[in-house]
Amino acid sequence: MTDFTMKKDADGVAIITWDTVGRSMNVMSQQGFLDLEALVDDALADDAIKGIVITSGKEGSFAGGMDLNAIARMKDDAGDDPARGLFDGVMGMHAILRKIERAGMDPKTNKGGKPIAAALPGTALGIGLELPLACHRIFAADNPKAKIGLPEIMVGIFPGAGGTTRLVRKLGVMAAAPLLLEGKLNDPKKAMQAGIVDEVVPVDELIDTARAWVLSKPSIVKPWDEKGYKMPGGAPYHPAGFMTFVGASAMVNGKTQGTLPAAKALLSAVYEGALVPFDTALRIEARWFTNVLMNPSSTAMIRSLFINKEALDKGANRPDVPDQKVNKVGVMGAGMMGAGIALVSAMAGMEVVLVDQKQAAADKGKAYSATYMDKGIKRGKATEAKKDETLARITATTDYDALKGCDLIIEAVFEDADVKAEVTKNVLKVVGDDCIFATNTSTLPITDLAKASDTPEQFIGIHFFSPVERMMLVEIIKGEKTGPRAVAKALDYVRQIRKTPIVVNDARFFYCNRCILPYINEGIRMVAEGVTPALIDNAARQLGFPVGPLQLVDETSIDLGAKIARATKTAMGDDYPDAAVDEVIFWMEGEGRLGRKANAGFFDYDDKGKRQGYWDGLAARYPHADTQPDLITVQHRLMFAQVLEAVRALEEGVLEDIREGDVGAVLAWGFAPWSGGPFSWLDILGAPYAAERCDELTAEFGPRFATPALLRELAKKGQSFYGRFAGVAEAA
Ligand code: NAD
Repeated sequence: MTDFTMKKDADGVAIITWDTVGRSMNVMSQQGFLDLEALVDDALADDAIKGIVITSGKEGSFAGGMDLNAIARMKDDAGDDPARGLFDGVMGMHAILRKIERAGMDPKTNKGGKPIAAALPGTALGIGLELPLACHRIFAADNPKAKIGLPEIMVGIFPGAGGTTRLVRKLGVMAAAPLLLEGKLNDPKKAMQAGIVDEVVPVDELIDTARAWVLSKPSIVKPWDEKGYKMPGGAPYHPAGFMTFVGASAMVNGKTQGTLPAAKALLSAVYEGALVPFDTALRIEARWFTNVLMNPSSTAMIRSLFINKEALDKGANRPDVPDQKVNKVGVMGAGMMGAGIALVSAMAGMEVVLVDQKQAAADKGKAYSATYMDKGIKRGKATEAKKDETLARITATTDYDALKGCDLIIEAVFEDADVKAEVTKNVLKVVGDDCIFATNTSTLPITDLAKASDTPEQFIGIHFFSPVERMMLVEIIKGEKTGPRAVAKALDYVRQIRKTPIVVNDARFFYCNRCILPYINEGIRMVAEGVTPALIDNAARQLGFPVGPLQLVDETSIDLGAKIARATKTAMGDDYPDAAVDEVIFWMEGEGRLGRKANAGFFDYDDKGKRQGYWDGLAARYPHADTQPDLITVQHRLMFAQVLEAVRALEEGVLEDIREGDVGAVLAWGFAPWSGGPFSWLDILGAPYAAERCDELTAEFGPRFATPALLRELAKKGQSFYGRFAGVAEAA
């Protein structure tokens, strides 16, 4: 069976239908391209055929994109000279799409040729739009749920099957830039307004309209194949075009801090391609695309942000127990987290009981959902009906009896073990025996909290990040006695709310906070040493972190840091390693510099809460050293502080799967996305160099950088984390 089939009708129209076997959405493979080419060749050579319509056999979608697994394998399959192999493969795709675009026309006169229309029933992403862009007209069904665009940049590549070159020539650089650089997706109507698709038609008229157009003997020469073609908005050497390119380069570097190889390569492909004829531009696009595919960053990003994220979303590590879909969830505590949890649960269609101590507090928690939906309505993303539906699902109450019938409880009351224990006991008196009880604690051990329950196998941690509705990761924590049904329930719930789960074992700060804290602490430690705060935060931002460690403390608050430090010190006793950090934190706390919420922290803030420069008082207490460390040293301190914690979490069995460690790091705290995560970063460095660097950092800065035994062993054996563990995870 092939993914493409063709039917020729009596009027002389060949309908090519794309229907990838065994997938709910079409994805393109190398073989798929060859099958498509064979059908196009057949139709072009057949005198009875006047034109072609390319459509999809999947209801509501055209295609989801290239099979990224295939892209990931392309490099491995390319043999001894992978760059050459990749380039040849990409040029092969260009040749097929160019054949569709030229459709048998005379190369000199542009005469002849057969019209080829793309008819998109719905979502068309990546190659699912690059193929239509090579056709002569794009018809899209009026399907508001459909998403149309080129999101490749989100996984570390860029549209490399002609999408970059064609979209820029069709729309001009200014209009194409957000679509290419930000991966912005549009519904069909907006895609038409943006000039990406040519016509939006009712879904049941899609094929007939496309057929009628094909039979109408339309002109099919693309503007860029006509003599005298001028790029909309001007080419780079045109005054307007010149400004566009200068602005675009600045914008890309400002946004990405130069960390994303794909963004730079994309701009180069656009700029250089705009200076030359179309076919040369395609070659340039292919060279830059090859360059990106050869960069280890793109391999790591595709692996973490697409392949492994998708595997985790589908429940890669889900125990083999029957479906645990949640129908009715009880949320205990309607504060910041509880309100967000209620919102995402209700939006996913669950019945929600939101409980707080006072009715006013419960109502306030529910009002958060109303405000959120109102904002959505203003931005055209929600409707009044959707808001009413969502709010109707949430019962805000103080009455525990309302929890009857809940199959999952998520507790988000104060971070106090006694309060949590009491709530747990009271809830379990009301709910049925089957109910799974989850806590959203960020610091208290799950195993200890589970002691409040007679059924600790039904007790689990479901740790959200703030703000709940925006953060895509949820950390699921197994206590010592947590059973498989509780894990499955938590995973099924996270799937319902369309977030990405990782599952870890119980240990201090679980996985994510365990790695974030050393990052913050290393930043603060450097302040105490006299490193300038700007160097510390900028070093992190230039690694691709959304905020530097000092700014992060201001956002999360100093008193939270101080509270965590005191609790950790009490728990660890003499082993506690962070006295130098505490010196700064406790002093800041004493000075009332509690962070953004106090309008005073490492930064000064104006009356409206807008961040100004670093606070002078900091330099007065911790004078800047005359000699500042070089950027790489600061960056290595910040990076190794985190990744070594991740390695230790793996060694200790807190993490069971390096894929979760990598995906979790990027989604939870924005760990240098270009690297693909801590383990991917270590693999990019190579274990021998990483181990050597740890030795140097240990000698200079102390034992917190000591090379973990596992890293030392990989270095000795010349192994990588993914070489050693990925197969294990996949087999699990
Ligand atoms: P919060 O103070 O905003 O909200 C707690 C709510 O619980 C309050 O509305 C309070 O009235 C209510 N509450 C207290 N005792 C109760 C009881 N006996 N019965 C019913 N309701 C009760 O706190 P938050 O920031 O939403 O945090 C809640 C939990 O989530 C904590 O365990 C915290 O560690 C955890 N957490 C917080 C964050 C964060 O960024 N804030 C992130 C992850 C996890």
